[in-house]
This record gives sequence, C-alpha cells and structure tokens, in this order.
Amino acid sequence: MQLSQPVQNITDGSDGWELLYKARDMKAAGRDVIELNIGEHDIHTDPLILEAMYQSALAGNTGYAMVPGQVDLRKTVADRIQARTGVPTEPENILITPGGQSALFAAHFATLNANDTALYIDPYYATYPGTIRMTGARDHAIAARSEDGFQPDARDIDRIALETSAKTLLINSPNNPTGAVYSEQTMTNVVTTCQTRDLWIISDEVYDTQIWSGTHMSPRQLDAERTLVVGSMSKSHAMTGSRLGWVCAPAHVISHLIDVATHTTYGVPGFIQDAALAAFSQGPEFEEQIAQPFRRRMNLALGILERSTQIRVLPPHGGMYLMLDIRATGKSGEEFALGLLETHGIAVMPGESFGAAAAGHIRIAMTVNDQDFTKALEQICAYVDHLCA
Ligand code: PLP
Repeated sequence: MQLSQPVQNITDGSDGWELLYKARDMKAAGRDVIELNIGEHDIHTDPLILEAMYQSALAGNTGYAMVPGQVDLRKTVADRIQARTGVPTEPENILITPGGQSALFAAHFATLNANDTALYIDPYYATYPGTIRMTGARDHAIAARSEDGFQPDARDIDRIALETSAKTLLINSPNNPTGAVYSEQTMTNVVTTCQTRDLWIISDEVYDTQIWSGTHMSPRQLDAERTLVVGSMSKSHAMTGSRLGWVCAPAHVISHLIDVATHTTYGVPGFIQDAALAAFSQGPEFEEQIAQPFRRRMNLALGILERSTQIRVLPPHGGMYLMLDIRATGKSGEEFALGLLETHGIAVMPGESFGAAAAGHIRIAMTVNDQDFTKALEQICAYVDHLCA
C-alpha cells in the first residue's frame, strides 16, 4: 500500500538534524556535550504563566475552546500588533493557532493550489520546504548571500518569481538561522516586488521581540492586504511547549483559515489561551527580560570571536543564533560541526542544514548558560586555529 505523495515528499529522507541526534547519543553514552544547537531558552516557562494555566484548567476551561481563539485573546493579540506596528488590527484579523508552525502551514495552505510554486529565502528555518510541500505545492529557495549579511536581493526574487510564476513568498525577519533583520530598504524592495509579481507575502515574525540592532519592520506595514503574518509566544515568552501562535491577515483570509483550523487542529486549549493572556499582561518589560540573555551572550561571543583572524562573524541583529563563516578552515559546515563534536564535545548546527546558501557556516544557538557558552566559544576559536595551523 502506498502512502500519499505529499506525505512522502515532506522530507527528502534526511531532516538535517543528524548532528543533533549524534550529540544526544554521545550524551547518553556519558560524554559531556555542550549543546549549542537547540532553539530553545535555557529557562522554563515562568511560574506565573503556569499558575494561570493551572487555575484556568481547575476553573473548568478544559472543554472545546473557540476554534478561532478566545475573543479576549484575539483582541489582546490584535491590540499588541497594532501597538507594535501601527497597522490597524482587529480581532477579525487574528486566528489563534497551536504554535507558529501550524500557522505557517495554514498560511501556505490558504494561498497555494497544488503544483503552485512557493518561494522562500535560503538560509531558512528547517521546516519551510516540508511545510510548503505538504500543501501539494512546489518549494523554491532563493539564495541570500553571506556577503550581503543574508539580506535577500529583491532582484533575485523578481527574476525567480517571473520564471516560476510563483504565488507566495515566505520571509523571516529576524531570521533563523542568520540573525539578519531586514532593513527598511530590503523590506520595501521585497514588498514592491511582491506587488509587481502579485505574490502573497507570508512573514514569519516569531523572533520579533529579539532585536539587537536596527528596527523590526513587518511587510504588513507596507501592504496589509497581501500579507499573512505568523507569530508565536514560543520565543517571546519562553512558552515553546505551550504551543500558542497566530496568523494575522485580512479578515476574509482569516475566515477561511478558521475553516482550516476547524478541520485540522480544532483550536488551542482554553487553559493555554488563559495562560497566554496572563503572559501578555506582564507587558513588554517581561518580553525584554526573556530576550536579555541572548543579547548578553551575543556580546560575550563577539568579544571572544574578535580575537580570531580566521572566523568571519556575522553579528546577529536579532534572534537567538549566531552564524560563523568557517570557510577559511577549508571544511564544509558539516565536516566542521562533526569534527568539533568529536574532538571537543561541542554541538553546533552545520549551515548546510539550513540550505545551500549557508554552506561553509555554522549556526550557534546562544541557549546555554554564560559559563558553558564562553567555554564553548573559546574552544571553537582554538579548534579553528588548530585547523588553520
Ligand atoms: N519559525 C521560525 C523561524 C522558528 O525558528 C521556529 C521555531 O524554532 C518556528 C517558526 C516555530 O515556532 P513555534 O511553532 O514554536 O511557534
């Protein structure tokens, strides 16, 4: 018996996370491994949020929840987006989803027909190609260049959109894995190109509270009618396991996305939504507090790495990751990451896991305590010196 083509096409057999599994095996065998490969905070969800979740569940909010999201939460998310971007936003523009990942799928499913082409920028978050292929559409990556700080070039988007008759473009700023925050010029060029080629814009903004330099701009500020924004509390509130995200889009798009939710997830548990309300009620200071360790570690890392003449650092402008260009060692990202794991017990992600444009790079997640982080960065420098000697 054959399984469906879309389900077989989700991955190409390898999911790019082999190194993570190897690191886990080494740990299980008793070896000390510093894991700089995980996109998750080193703190747990705040007890205040958990208490709200518990009290809500105890009070009986355990039945089927409103599929589009509770009215109070949709309003809170809409008001927050309006306050952050200046774009008028109503609860009707919001669908609450189980995390940003399901929002990414819903957004593509709503805008693509089978065999349509969906564009995305390389380097990219690992699930992008599979998410697109699950809809039955074709995924097509557009390379951004390390030398341009991984800002996409709108002329490439224009050319490839024309060649492929693409229907959508997925962008991600602040970017995982590169730390790029699209400049106003980049965003303006990208949106103008999408208007010219009549593309839907799907904008993954799950790292929008982690900005280290520059300003976060949403393409929705330039064209709200063609933009579907994907948001999440995973990174902003250290709530990765709670699975709470959203799509923000024109009301007519949301009304169809509610149909998608009704026939897939059937919404998000009410006690999780109440926990989200409690988390939002803590205000921006709380979000800054969650983001703070990544800013601190980025500065620590830049201080250590400036001593290396061989590593080219791409200082991140946002997010929890740091990209290092290790091409001077003559190794691929994969070879380098494997060697580093075996010789020093340090796990990083090879750039190649995030697309061909990140080949010869490694991604460091700034998600371990400062002491281990500092030690690991120093050892990475020593390993590079050894390879280049
Ligand atoms: N988008 C990006 C760029 C990510 O890095 C992640 C998770 O790491 C997600 C989306 C999915 O986040 P979640 O489903 O936890 O909201």
